[in-house]
Amino acid sequence: MKIVTVLGARPQFIKASVVSHAIAKSDSLTEVVIHTGQHFDANMSDVFFAELGMDKPAYHLDINGGLHGDMTGRMLIEIEKVLLVEEPDAVLVYGDTNSTLAGALAAVKLHIPVAHVEAGLRSFNMAMPEEVNRILTDRISRLLFTPTVVAAQHLQREGFAAEQIIPVGDVMFDVALHHGSRVSENGGLLHQLGLKAKGYILATIHRAENTDHPGRLAAIVEALEAVAQNLPVVWPLHPRTRGVLQKSGRLESLGRNLTLIDPVGYIDMVQLEKYAALIATDSGGVQKEAFFYRVPCVTLRDETEWVELVDGGWNRLASPTNAAEVIAVLRAGIGTVGREITPYGAGDAANKIVQHMLKELN
Ligand code: UDP
Repeated sequence: MKIVTVLGARPQFIKASVVSHAIAKSDSLTEVVIHTGQHFDANMSDVFFAELGMDKPAYHLDINGGLHGDMTGRMLIEIEKVLLVEEPDAVLVYGDTNSTLAGALAAVKLHIPVAHVEAGLRSFNMAMPEEVNRILTDRISRLLFTPTVVAAQHLQREGFAAEQIIPVGDVMFDVALHHGSRVSENGGLLHQLGLKAKGYILATIHRAENTDHPGRLAAIVEALEAVAQNLPVVWPLHPRTRGVLQKSGRLESLGRNLTLIDPVGYIDMVQLEKYAALIATDSGGVQKEAFFYRVPCVTLRDETEWVELVDGGWNRLASPTNAAEVIAVLRAGIGTVGREITPYGAGDAANKIVQHMLKELN
């Protein structure tokens, strides 16, 4: 059986790494990877293939930039061409990016079954491009691999057939179990940046709802600068965020108070996460990784898809509309621990995905 996997963005390379390894171990499955090119910088793409031991994608479409419709449309055209040549038995897509939707849509129109990893997540905020992408992808997928109980409940409520909803756990937990022990507090990026274990805050910001709203980005910046007076803040800048800050002329002055760095590879990121006193983020993946390494997290958004971490006391929401409130939540988060919970499965999501694909698609 042949699977075509469609990837394009940083978190997808990370999630796919464990599933691709599980597919490679199976005698009955082969995988052909299409990289759409949505993320293309060496430190947003190549580094993950190298560090996580993934083969070079068979196809690189080199599609990036432009508005959502433009980017998704070009991907749709090119993915369809590849699918017509490869004639796979199924198409595997991850998460909620334009690459996810384009891959699923190209496949379903050719009557190729779609398997969606990280199905059922909902923010209930249709202003997010990710929410649109994930709802539409779920709708046209045959197999819905859910990471959490809550995600499966969303799909049940939306009327999907029970046999389509397959609880497997979160592949990012698999990745953390495989790679989380590759770092220590000595050496590495921590040493290079002069940071001490548990002596700094790690920040990441890239969601359009923050970068594209000057008031929200200003509140985040003001809050991070305020907490940096007590604890250094290290902030690997996503290209979109760097672009916005540069355009508004804020980048230089910000760099005086905060440690701004380029996006880092997965292993450096794990080290930064594991030894942080607190993580402040609007990333989905980073919220979960904070929990995997038992680091308190503040999510700089109005809502989160990973509600179990808020319920469990590992994560707090801080809407970046008012800097003073964000500062208070950040300060209150330091030193807190949540309840011991196991919402993301047993770390065998990748194997379960492969087993189910073999069973369901045969
Ligand atoms: N990440 C990384 N380097 C960075 C920032 C993030 O390796 O400089 C990793 C992070 O550890 C996580 C993933 O990228 O595994 C999260 O991706 P991102 O925040 O871009 O997307 P989201 O999870 O919000 O979809």
